[in-house]
Amino acid sequence: MRVLVVQLSVLVWLGLLGCGNPALELVPTVVLITLDTTRADHLGCYGYARNTSPNLDAFAREAVVYERAIAPATWTLPSHASLFTGKLTASHGAQYDPDGALRLRSAIEGPESWEAYRARTIARTERTLAERLREAGYATGAVVGGVWLKAAFGLDRGFDDYDDDGIGTVNGRLAEDVTDRAVEWLKQTAGPRFLFLNYFDPHSPFEPPDDFAWRFVAPDAPEGGARVIGSYDGEIAYMDHHLGRFFQALRDAGLYDDALIVVTADHGELLGEHGEMGHGRVPYQEVVHIPLIVKMPGPGGPTGRNAEWVQLNDVFPLILQSLGLEVPDDIQGEAPPRTDRPVVVESRTVPPWTREGEWLALIEGETKFLWNRRGRHALFDLSVDPQEQRNLASQNRQSVSSMRRRLERYLASLPPPGAQAAPRALDPETRQALENLGYLE
Ligand SMILES: [Zn+2]
Repeated sequence: MRVLVVQLSVLVWLGLLGCGNPALELVPTVVLITLDTTRADHLGCYGYARNTSPNLDAFAREAVVYERAIAPATWTLPSHASLFTGKLTASHGAQYDPDGALRLRSAIEGPESWEAYRARTIARTERTLAERLREAGYATGAVVGGVWLKAAFGLDRGFDDYDDDGIGTVNGRLAEDVTDRAVEWLKQTAGPRFLFLNYFDPHSPFEPPDDFAWRFVAPDAPEGGARVIGSYDGEIAYMDHHLGRFFQALRDAGLYDDALIVVTADHGELLGEHGEMGHGRVPYQEVVHIPLIVKMPGPGGPTGRNAEWVQLNDVFPLILQSLGLEVPDDIQGEAPPRTDRPVVVESRTVPPWTREGEWLALIEGETKFLWNRRGRHALFDLSVDPQEQRNLASQNRQSVSSMRRRLERYLASLPPPGAQAAPRALDPETRQALENLGYLE
């Protein structure tokens, strides 16, 4: 981790001038938090019966809860890239790609099959959220917990400080450490600040620490569904506890009320629904329906619930607009409530599932269309079938073909990603973590 020595006078000067925009008064604290792998429907503020998220629920009561937020991708790297660029995967470029510049095998001894593990980072031509906020006069810092957030994968662009230490095990970095480092960073810096946090605990394996391990499942419970779900919920509760400590630290420092705080997730997780576990493949609702909770700066900001479809690529313009910064017009996101763009998910499957072909989804009103490269299309009516159990494709061929046409045309109309950033060598800790996660086997 690079250590930032804050030049207070410089920051104050930058803050006053707004970096070339004298009228702009900078919001003192901007916080963006991703809860990795956290399904909306396993949180109290989204109606879950278990008390997994008391601190997040309290935060949500002082904020706007977006009830229908959709991840534009099904795994960590492309979703975070959408959050940071306002674009869909087709346009920002960060995803698995056989021609990707990031070649894991060039850093690792391994079998031929590992050659498939190549990814692209965010296109070099993009100006990320952190870059834009830094240019506007914010000090930018990040503390991340997940392997794909390690700086080697390129999401660190624009951050003065990017703390990806200690991610060497299958569990990533624990929430306790993320919160501790975040609080430390706030103490070390001054002036207008942008802080990005990635909590990783709900990602598999589900092994919540200490008190949280048996909160929702008995130690002698048999292997299987209830145990898996109870352990996943325990991870969320553990994360929520330390999220609560972070909010309290903001309050204690007098930063909370005036802060813009956005809490969301990069994707969800299948816990046995559709006969499957995990994420990264079919964009079912369990995988793409994520929390999005936004607290505007100042006490007495807007609260309540918003039922429009929103996506992670909408968060980018939402933040820029809320801060009075220019929103670029070449993105696919739109700041709610004025959204009128297609709701799209792209899921380019990774080995060993490459053979089933990539998946796309288009949501229009209550209708969800699943597109598959191998022709396994599906159509669901979410108003009566939110669990996507009844595929209506065969009896609605006209809807299938018209939605398919709109989806393909829209994606084909998007500007392709610019040139890739240069590859970086993976450090031994990142390599070890990826091997532990099973990505390199
Ligand atoms: Zn993730």
